[in-house]
Amino acid sequence: MQLFSPPIWRNAISRFGYPILLAFIVLEGLHHASPLSPLNEALVKTLPYILLPVAVFLGELFNQSRTSLAAILLLCSYHIIQTWLQSPLSIPSTKLAYTLLAVALPLNLLWIHRLPERRLVTRSNIYFLVAALLQFIAATFLVNYLANFDLTLIWQHYLVSFPLISKLPVAIILLFVASLTLHSMLVLKRNQPHDHALFIGTLFSALTFTFFQYNMISSVAYSVSSLLLLTNLISCSHELAYIDQLTGIPGRRSLDTELKHLGRTYSIAMIDIDHFKMFNDTYGHNTGDDVLRLVASILAKQSNNAKVYRYGGEEFTIIFKGRTQEASLRFLEQVRKQVESYPLNVLDHPTSDSSDDSQKLYTHITVSIGVSDNHKMDSPYSVLKAADLALYRAKSNGRNQVCQRLHI
Ligand code: GH3
Ligand code: MG
Ligand code: MG
Repeated sequence: MQLFSPPIWRNAISRFGYPILLAFIVLEGLHHASPLSPLNEALVKTLPYILLPVAVFLGELFNQSRTSLAAILLLCSYHIIQTWLQSPLSIPSTKLAYTLLAVALPLNLLWIHRLPERRLVTRSNIYFLVAALLQFIAATFLVNYLANFDLTLIWQHYLVSFPLISKLPVAIILLFVASLTLHSMLVLKRNQPHDHALFIGTLFSALTFTFFQYNMISSVAYSVSSLLLLTNLISCSHELAYIDQLTGIPGRRSLDTELKHLGRTYSIAMIDIDHFKMFNDTYGHNTGDDVLRLVASILAKQSNNAKVYRYGGEEFTIIFKGRTQEASLRFLEQVRKQVESYPLNVLDHPTSDSSDDSQKLYTHITVSIGVSDNHKMDSPYSVLKAADLALYRAKSNGRNQVCQRLHI
């Protein structure tokens, strides 16, 4: 049972926003750009050949094989564009090759969602790459074979385009729009790193094929998309290290870093869910996980200017910069009350798969809180220890309360 869905909207929108904004900038830039010198042009054309292999390598290093696969597909399609699609699209065989590539690329990028996120060299990934190679061979054969036929009727009836806007047939533009919509929905639903990577890859290939008439579009769009893939990989590895996977708030490593950068006055609160073991035993571990997410979200939402961390297990830490423990008390009392009054809709029999409402009931959880400031304390770790002692007092006084360090 889902008690709380993490606030991924803001995060996801910021991740859509930047690639889309960059796509517009690329388009505008190319529209107004003056021709480059041959040396600069050669440099820009080389960039995707350098950046995309780096993305493949980093993807493998960070166990993000789907991002690596997306980078491999982009690299191959870039090479095809640079090698076979540099002649005008008025030449029938170039137009056919361009159309086939514009169909195959978004479909293959979509297929990557179905592959498991493991190391790059796995049987399913090799099958996938072999299938892509076979598509390339078949397309080459088709382009050569159809070179002797007049395809005008097919272009006019089935693959209509509006050359003033784009040489890409409307049907293929719609294919790009549909696959971008699908990737976006997956980003919103799961917010997984490879969802972003595939969205970025599809967006910039759509840009390339739709505005193919712009000089250097493939080199610039593919360079920007590979930079975004790299940024995505690096920020994900940073998140993996610093963000708690279950609750989505910063974890212990972030807390350790923060403890080294505290100012002159601060207070630290330790929050512990009461009788959580019993809650797990009664309602199941999954419901327990939902409760941890819920408490994390209540703390994070409430924390005006305070930083919230998952300390570990069912314990959380809040750091209040510039505030004494007395000044933090009102806020902590508010948090305690919010948790206490939150109605948890849980399954009576957690082992049953049934979602029958008659088996659901409402219950509540409580938290105990200990807080200490750094008055007469020599290190953040002793403040943390003092907050822990105050928490211990809150527990032994009967739980569901806030206790502060006693100043002697
Ligand atoms: P107290 O009121 O004294 O704090 O009692 P308690 O039961 O909350 O404390 P105790 O330390 O005995 O048990 C903590 C429980 O938290 C045990 C463990 O199963 C549960 N727990 C720790 N991490 C997780 C987690 O990630 N998910 C879930 N569902 N449970 C967790
Ligand atoms: Mg505990
Ligand atoms: Mg506890």
